[in-house]
Amino acid sequence: MIDENTQLVGLIGWPVEYSLSPVMHNAAFAALEMNWCYLPLPVPPQRVEAAVSGLAAFGFRGANVTIPHKRAVFSALSSLSPQAEALGAVNTLLIEQGDDRAIVGENTDAAGFLAALSGEGLAVAGRRALVVGAGGAARAVVYALVENGAHTVVILNRSIKRAHELVERFRGNAQRARLRAAALNGPNLVLLSEDGDLLVNATPVGMRPNVDRSIWPAEIPIPFHLTVFDLVYNPYQTRLLQQTRTARARAISGLEMLVQQGARSFELWTNRQAPIDVMREACVQHLAYQAEGER
Ligand code: NAP
Repeated sequence: MIDENTQLVGLIGWPVEYSLSPVMHNAAFAALEMNWCYLPLPVPPQRVEAAVSGLAAFGFRGANVTIPHKRAVFSALSSLSPQAEALGAVNTLLIEQGDDRAIVGENTDAAGFLAALSGEGLAVAGRRALVVGAGGAARAVVYALVENGAHTVVILNRSIKRAHELVERFRGNAQRARLRAAALNGPNLVLLSEDGDLLVNATPVGMRPNVDRSIWPAEIPIPFHLTVFDLVYNPYQTRLLQQTRTARARAISGLEMLVQQGARSFELWTNRQAPIDVMREACVQHLAYQAEGER
């Protein structure tokens, strides 16, 4: 029941209607019998600053931030965490409940990526990674890899200029990692994978409704030695993950990163341990329900 004691959090983005975050967080609140509510909050780009100030005015405890506002919120914040500053993007807001209602920008995407990897028993140290994409998600992945001792990170992108920009951004952070950029095409991907052990898809290729698409060429089997991490989580079984399982290589779904980053946001807002299994199950059920509805 929503009453005067209900604590509010939400998601600001444009659009927000396909997000799994409300389902995931509200399931967690229900499981822990917490009087909290997570709301989808569609905010057009010209209203971002006013919306963030409004959250503080209404006494929201925090929010998630998604595309296209992950940088645009900066001007409305009181401070940034070191992680959000290093990444140049915010996906979580924490709103202090004192008189001044300071708003802190945090980023849990890199931690979510790392937790998903370690949940599979995979360490980052020494890893030879290929990251496909050079947008916001790729930025979090590359940051996580270079900060945690990856051996090599090759960034492949459709626009090679953006891949080079990402390399330049993180070259200073990379104590050990060798960073390089390459153009995204099938032959490059296949060739570079010979020396890699982790392939991360950080593009929307394969995302609903374009479920038959994949970054990996259809006619070539995925090498068995690769672990493939597809950040796309809708559908749950992407074409790329199907190709990976057909080759009997190890596959990691983007849903795990989504759940893990969500769990970190939850813990920052509530100071309670996130019920990760409940959150994952709520997402899986919702995706299955959505897929069923489309048949
Ligand atoms: P973004 O900032 O818009 O970047 C998109 C990237 O994908 C760019 O590098 C773009 O290349 C590339 N791209 C787009 N369409 C492409 C195509 N048809 N062929 C090849 N490359 C293409 O988006 P983002 O925030 O990084 O998100 C990327 C994906 O990650 C989305 O599907 C998102 O849902 C997913 N994601 C998942 C999680 C999670 O927790 N699992 C978290 C964040 C994001 P150009 O630079 O050449 O345009």
